[in-house]
Amino acid sequence: MSKTLNHVAYRTCPLCEATCGLEITVVDNAVTRIRGDRDDVFSHGFICPKGSTLKQLHDDPDRLRHPLIKRDGAHVRATWSEAWNHIATELGAIIGKHGRESIATYLGNPNAHNLASLIYNRTLLMGIGSRQRFSASSVDQLPKQVASGYMFGTPLSVPIPDLDRTQYILMLGANPYASNGSLCTAPDFPGRLEAMRARGGKLVVVDPRRSRTADEADEWLAIRPGTDALLLAAIANTILQDGAADPGAHIREHLNGFDTLPKALEAFTAQAVERATGISAATIVRIAHELNDAPSALVYGRIGTTTVSFGTTASWLVDVLNTITGNLDKPGGVMFPLPATGNSTTRGKKGSGSGFRIGRGHSRVRKFPEALGEYPVAMLAEEITTGGEGQVRALVTVAGNPVLSTPNGRQMEAALDELEFMVSVDMYLNETTRHANVILPPPSHLERSHYDLIFASFAIRNVANYSEPVLPNSDNQPDEWEILVKLAGIAKGLGADIDPSVIDDANIETFLAGVINDPTSNIHGRDAQEIRQQLDQTGERGPERMLDLMIRTGPYGDGFGGVPDGLTLAKLREHPHGIDFGALQQRIPEMLRTESGKVELAPEPLLADLPRLRDSMNDVDEEQMLLVGRRHLRSNNSWMHNVEVLVKGKPRCTMHVHPEDAARIGIVDGGIAKVTSRVGSLEVTVEVTDSVRPRVVSLPHGWGHGLRGTRMGVAAEHAGVNSNVLTDEEALDPLSGNAVLNGIPVSVVSV
Ligand code: SF4
Repeated sequence: MSKTLNHVAYRTCPLCEATCGLEITVVDNAVTRIRGDRDDVFSHGFICPKGSTLKQLHDDPDRLRHPLIKRDGAHVRATWSEAWNHIATELGAIIGKHGRESIATYLGNPNAHNLASLIYNRTLLMGIGSRQRFSASSVDQLPKQVASGYMFGTPLSVPIPDLDRTQYILMLGANPYASNGSLCTAPDFPGRLEAMRARGGKLVVVDPRRSRTADEADEWLAIRPGTDALLLAAIANTILQDGAADPGAHIREHLNGFDTLPKALEAFTAQAVERATGISAATIVRIAHELNDAPSALVYGRIGTTTVSFGTTASWLVDVLNTITGNLDKPGGVMFPLPATGNSTTRGKKGSGSGFRIGRGHSRVRKFPEALGEYPVAMLAEEITTGGEGQVRALVTVAGNPVLSTPNGRQMEAALDELEFMVSVDMYLNETTRHANVILPPPSHLERSHYDLIFASFAIRNVANYSEPVLPNSDNQPDEWEILVKLAGIAKGLGADIDPSVIDDANIETFLAGVINDPTSNIHGRDAQEIRQQLDQTGERGPERMLDLMIRTGPYGDGFGGVPDGLTLAKLREHPHGIDFGALQQRIPEMLRTESGKVELAPEPLLADLPRLRDSMNDVDEEQMLLVGRRHLRSNNSWMHNVEVLVKGKPRCTMHVHPEDAARIGIVDGGIAKVTSRVGSLEVTVEVTDSVRPRVVSLPHGWGHGLRGTRMGVAAEHAGVNSNVLTDEEALDPLSGNAVLNGIPVSVVSV
């Protein structure tokens, strides 16, 4: 892509789910300023401190600009050709000797923010041909997707808070003042909360920590970690037993299981959960009434509700509450976006489908069921270290740092050391990629185009925004899609010289055939060759060509001439600030893909988990110290710790301890404590603060830098400790396999 030396570019920020528009000034091919794009149709100029650091990330001398090969224990510079040949030889040998199941993949969180990865990681996984697939989903949002799958038919059928029209929010385990939201794409989430309160609305935050969001809220409920499902069940039960549940005429005929709920939840009275949750029965009853009586209301649960033992059950109960209070698929409640590229809620037969299930395979060692095509990352290490048929011998990671972000980090490190071969597509030589035999660097964020394929499915408005690359690729740097597709081809056995375009052409043919065969598509029955010609005439290649095809056959698309004035990628390019298709519209029943064609309010797997939830009411040790995570506005993924402007100042990797606990344990502010869990132990600087509830300690994750063999100079100077040394690979949400990262039992002593 040729660019003028001086220009102003508009680009969606890829660093978090908020998708803010950036205005980027380029002079002499160098970025001189990044600020919020005031004309962006969604973010209107909002930007957080991270957004402007795309320049620092691009300029970072530690960012890899050429492949590295590990020789004699050290990573040395290599040409792309050397890297490809090395991978072809080594992967080929392992596949030949041990079969494809011996290769595992791990996809990190940044893949969700990357157009090329979102389109071509699938090609990579198919090329490798192994079921040993792992990702950051199972340390994050997987339970919400599993619960949504059971209720609405697909894992992308996640109901999204209609923030701009609601009058009441019950928010659990989320801190959008620091994170700007997740599974709720909303630039300036804090501003939208403040606008709600300005119009007379109320924000109630449920969190073991008085987070920044809790601080700003009308009310903070300091819940015991891991008990959100109990609280939600008790609120739902209160409304149901009062006979006050009314899903509303708009939704009632589309529900299955509504009448099952009162009996299923009757044990969860406000009194019964009081001790376990640490929230008084009177408060629970009052919140139930407030939620049910508000003119519009929504319940929103995020990381604190999903990274716990009852993650899927809590996620289900969030939407049970949204439904029985009359707020499902209603303005001001929770609704379903209609993304411009379409998704599994727009394709195929409308109103019903094949439903959702897990367990189409089981992990080799623990025999744990698959969910969303992958196994829990908490099981990756044991798949590497446990011998036998199908043992993982090689690993491919794409933009991931599981040593810092997945449970039992030390076990993960030891496992990576046992691999016969490892390839990483990554910008940095970090705590994980230091184990790789070959590292393939993608272009920087500013050298890539961007379109939020995933987050448009989770956005509070229907918006489409395409960004051109801001800067041209540096010499010899392949595009990211070419790296992923070539890696796929090599894994498939097509050799180191395989041309990625050949595989890409095959991808397009396959996708096109699927759309033409879909009776509900706007090109159903059309001639594939004619469509292909139109597509190729645009000159788009790689991810852009696929994106164009998805857009043109999506809900607003031009259907390749069939829908006059419909959307195309070319049209999006003419709108660098994006196109706003408006507020979310009611979509039930057409978006449902359950077998019954109804919202499944009482899915069997969730009902079956209720006895375990009931037992947890009595399994309360009020003396037990519990570890939870936290997030800072200037932090997100671990690689952002290599940006000086984001890590400077007071050290942030400290452990928050309540004053009562500090006094009992005998630790002081600034002192060192030793914290120990079932799997590990750390020494960490203590910050004494009443922003955590007693018996709760809090550590941020993604730290623990400066390990030998890494090359992240700034991060090493602000190393911190790896909180995942303490998280337990055995502790899972049994319905999804998501790791338990909050509410870890620990002991704390003064050092
Ligand atoms: S809120 Fe997220 S998307 Fe917006 S500027 Fe910050 S990091 Fe980027």
